[in-house]
Amino acid sequence: RVDEARVVEAVEKRLFIDGKWTDATRGATFDVVDPSTGEALCAVADASPADGRAALEAAVAAQPDFARTSPRERSDMLMTAYELLMQRADELALLMTLEMGKPLAEARGEIAYAAEFFRHFAGEAVRIDGGYQTAPAGNARFLITKQPVGPCLLITPWNFPMAMGTRKLGPAIAAGCTSVVKPAHQTPLSMLALMGILAEAGVPAGAVNCVTAMDAGGVMEPLIRSGLARKLSFTGSTRVGRILLEQCAEKVLRTSLELGGNAPFVVFEDADLDEAVTGAIAAKMRNMGEACTAANRIFVHESVIDEFGRRLAERMAGLTVGRGTEPGVNVGPLIDEAGREKVRSLVADAVGRGATVLTGGEVPPGSGYFYPPTVLTGVPREAAMADQEIFGPVAPLTPFSTEDEVVRAANDTEYGLVAYVFTNDLRRALRVAESIETGMVGLNQGVVSNPAAPFGGVKQSGLGREGGAVGIDEFLETKYIGIAVS
Ligand code: ADP
Repeated sequence: RVDEARVVEAVEKRLFIDGKWTDATRGATFDVVDPSTGEALCAVADASPADGRAALEAAVAAQPDFARTSPRERSDMLMTAYELLMQRADELALLMTLEMGKPLAEARGEIAYAAEFFRHFAGEAVRIDGGYQTAPAGNARFLITKQPVGPCLLITPWNFPMAMGTRKLGPAIAAGCTSVVKPAHQTPLSMLALMGILAEAGVPAGAVNCVTAMDAGGVMEPLIRSGLARKLSFTGSTRVGRILLEQCAEKVLRTSLELGGNAPFVVFEDADLDEAVTGAIAAKMRNMGEACTAANRIFVHESVIDEFGRRLAERMAGLTVGRGTEPGVNVGPLIDEAGREKVRSLVADAVGRGATVLTGGEVPPGSGYFYPPTVLTGVPREAAMADQEIFGPVAPLTPFSTEDEVVRAANDTEYGLVAYVFTNDLRRALRVAESIETGMVGLNQGVVSNPAAPFGGVKQSGLGREGGAVGIDEFLETKYIGIAVS
């Protein structure tokens, strides 16, 4: 626990505005809670709307100079930040586990994943391209260039406190955009630590600012409506995404939205069942199921569902639940009591409609927001969890008989982030991957997130892509200059 106290002590707890650590108006603070105990870890600054405004004004003031830095300078800042993140991975992972709950091994994995966005975008910064073209009539030339969008507002969720920050800050910095980032109130410490690293890596004052706040809407809405920012990038719920998209309409901000998911996970009768079970554990249990990419509806062919259910339940029952800092723990607590209550009530609803519990399903006594790995089978398609993100370690199995039927069921949702398909039939794999309405498909694999691939959803799962070669485009405007030659 000494180390724990030390990493919490070491992190700055104030707002980061114009390169300086600043107290919130009237010294306001809010508590950060350890979800494994329900107790406060520390308090951080609680920004007022005026603090938010000061942060955005700093980003606006820094924008012209930051846009003029060379691509190589910005690339070097990102590479240095990548290296600092990797050097401090152990303490950053511990900090993340304390505020968010995930097991230390997963937190270390997230630091590496988060750092990888910086390394990726360090490469993209120096590859921003353009064009030169002859007009069809031959009398003019088109010079096509890309410029930073301008000051950005970045809003991140609590489930991947570091990676959701670097996934936005990496391309923003690479493109030459300044920003104000607002992390989720549950997990501000990782983002505050990241601010220190960016400053150390040479990101100039004002180019990156951070406001932590309990009243996210109260602080962010006036900034979105101010017209001072040119872009909003948000990761979070579809409910909040819709509100923000409406707010962005007023000043026609560029928007990137990574919203909720309701991932189907389809196991055909010809799949390798062991691989499918391993894939399901990855797709379900990463981050305790608190991921927008989590398998939310597991459709298994009726001829193999009993065997699949048996093997999955055995593996799930073998996972160790506990405080993420303890050795050997695979499953940490959920983020808060509201998150746990939602999981509990979704399970009760499914069981009330006839689902059978193969393992788990009981809230354990004691402190912390723990919920056990749970497998339900025979979950009817009308169950509430078939339309809502469970955001917890619950795997609901539903049988199907034909390919057409399962594709229709998979697409019967307002969401379209990711789908997982397990089959050894190549033609079927491609048919199904092409007919599923999602931005991403995992074929015979339970994880799709990769900084070098375009991450994002269709339908009400969002707008735009993060990562990959296209991730930086979200932060660039295309300008065309017409040049008369005759
Ligand atoms: P979750 O349900 O995962 O907590 P949210 O969509 O509520 O997801 O939160 C994601 C992020 O959006 C967090 O940083 C949160 O503080 C922020 N947020 C929530 N409500 C608003 C709002 N009305 N305006 C701006 N940001 C918001």
